[in-house]
Amino acid sequence: MKPETLAIHASNLVNSATGDVTPPINLSTTFFRDEHGGYPGGHMYSRVSNPNRSALENTIAKLEYGEDAAAFSSGNTSGMALFQALKAGSHIIAPDDMYWGFKKQLLTIFADILEFDFIDQTDLELVKATIKPNTRLIWSETPSNPLLKVTDIAAIGKIAKAANITFACDSTFASPILQNPVLLGADIVMHSSTKYLGGHSDVLGGVLITAKKDELWERIKNVQQTGGAVPSPFDCYLLTRSIKTLAYRMKGHCENGKKVAHYLNQHPNVEAVFYPGLESHPQHEIAKKQMKDFGGMMSFLVKGGVEAASKTVNKVKLFAQATSLGGVESLIEHRYSIEGPDSKTPKNLLRISVGLEHVDDIIADLEQALN
Ligand SMILES: *Cc1c(COP(=O)(O)O)cnc(C)c1O
Repeated sequence: MKPETLAIHASNLVNSATGDVTPPINLSTTFFRDEHGGYPGGHMYSRVSNPNRSALENTIAKLEYGEDAAAFSSGNTSGMALFQALKAGSHIIAPDDMYWGFKKQLLTIFADILEFDFIDQTDLELVKATIKPNTRLIWSETPSNPLLKVTDIAAIGKIAKAANITFACDSTFASPILQNPVLLGADIVMHSSTKYLGGHSDVLGGVLITAKKDELWERIKNVQQTGGAVPSPFDCYLLTRSIKTLAYRMKGHCENGKKVAHYLNQHPNVEAVFYPGLESHPQHEIAKKQMKDFGGMMSFLVKGGVEAASKTVNKVKLFAQATSLGGVESLIEHRYSIEGPDSKTPKNLLRISVGLEHVDDIIADLEQALN
């Protein structure tokens, strides 16, 4: 079935005497055993699995064309589960424009346990040259945060496969509707479900999807179930509910995103716009090849440096000046001041998450803020 249909039906694993069309929120932490010690309902204890989480994991696995999925209490814990599943001493090839929370994990939590290099993965020769005998993971993020760099998933997939290295892709900015890394050769896909999957800025979560249930996946599932950084049944319920409209929300984000990117691109007070849907984007051709459309995320440089950027961000009225992305409401943020003094993000960069308001209202707000 097509994603629109799967998104609506894959979570309806109803097995209820009450005949619910929509699965209820199942708060039970523990489940009956039968006389042989089995679990007739398929669940034992809700850290290990529960009906709402299974519904969510089933849906996400289908939407990403994977064999299985694992849901976590945040995007950060989902990525961390993969890092934790690697053997000590493993080397990771990470992107230079990596989501800063993951970069911080590697630098502060895994510094003594794992080795890593942060490199420009748009340079495929550099990716190959960075492979070491102990490289176990290539982690990509595309489009990336906050510079919207696009990495060639199929090309990295080939490099990883040839060297027998696991290839994981943070596909949060694309959502499963716009890009499916498993179909392009990724072993693992990661999403912060706080973003487009949740879509309403009211639930924190993360997911990993695997192409194959292999030994590494067993280790990841163990981190999930024994580590226990799992989402609550209510979180899972909210996510399965939100995912039902994901395909249609993405259409709106893409349509508005394109118009806003073109508007910003011609604005005299804008120095540059980073949006994979613009022909001027350095990896536009790769984006066209691997994405169905370009989403609602972009960043731009305001002319006049950091002062002009902070003036603009403080003048918006409809946009919320807040971090995060992928919700129905438009958000804007001055990324450098979120990431702090170690950040390599340009100081005059503003990142916007284009929401689902009418695009004329979105553009009118930017117009009054930029002028
Ligand atoms: C938000 C985000 C994360 C982290 O997810 P949380 O749900 O905030 O923990 C990871 N990667 C990307 C690209 C993100 O935007």
